[in-house]
Amino acid sequence: MSYTITSQPARRTERAWREEVIRVCRLMWEKDFVAASDGNVSVRLGPDRFLVTPSGFSKGNLKPDQLLVIDWEAKVIGPLYGANRELRPSSEIILHLEAYRRRPDIRSVVHAHPPMAVALSIAGVSLAQCILPEVVMTLGLIPTTKYATPASPEGAEVIAGVIEHYDALILQRHGSVTVGESPWKAYLKLEKLEHTALITKTLVELNRFNPMKPDEVAKAVHWRESRGLLNDALAHDLCNVCDVCPLK
Ligand SMILES: [Zn+2]
Repeated sequence: MSYTITSQPARRTERAWREEVIRVCRLMWEKDFVAASDGNVSVRLGPDRFLVTPSGFSKGNLKPDQLLVIDWEAKVIGPLYGANRELRPSSEIILHLEAYRRRPDIRSVVHAHPPMAVALSIAGVSLAQCILPEVVMTLGLIPTTKYATPASPEGAEVIAGVIEHYDALILQRHGSVTVGESPWKAYLKLEKLEHTALITKTLVELNRFNPMKPDEVAKAVHWRESRGLLNDALAHDLCNVCDVCPLK
């Protein structure tokens, strides 16, 4: 959205990025945002290099040296010795690479399987709602993509046209994709997404789905606009979903 990551020199070492990815993986596992070997995290190290989690590992006990460096074709280009010997990137990394293609401003992609958000996507309950002001202010809305078979090229196809406009989205029946200027920032958006799903589920159970009033939404949208965080697609969606049409 308004980041300028690719125009800035990388100030952090690869070791520091590796440690941050491991910290985020551990939190994803501890907070039940992933099960078994679910989920993957990546960092754009440079124009043609990406640090990614390997396939088939629990995110609870990955080590920094097990992360792989790949190119735009998902081919491993980093050292193939030591702790990451014989490891391969997840097939879901194709989705990350598509996000980097479409968002040159981002430095990191986090994909998880947060259970509440996934359950709501199956139940047909949208998270693209104006319920929580801070979510409108920070994420805008949380859209859900069309269904794609996990780990297939369809994952990259369904985020096209959505990831350009949103930092947090749900993959129908599958999981979440959040992006940001670092793994930590992308992870925090995942936390916010699942927290929104929990509140939404509670509102559905209470049968008290009480969206924000248009004037309340308008103030939150104005806050985004004043910080350069309002794009045309989001304005269009806010108009459709929340009855606030900032471009009118
Ligand atoms: Zn997945």
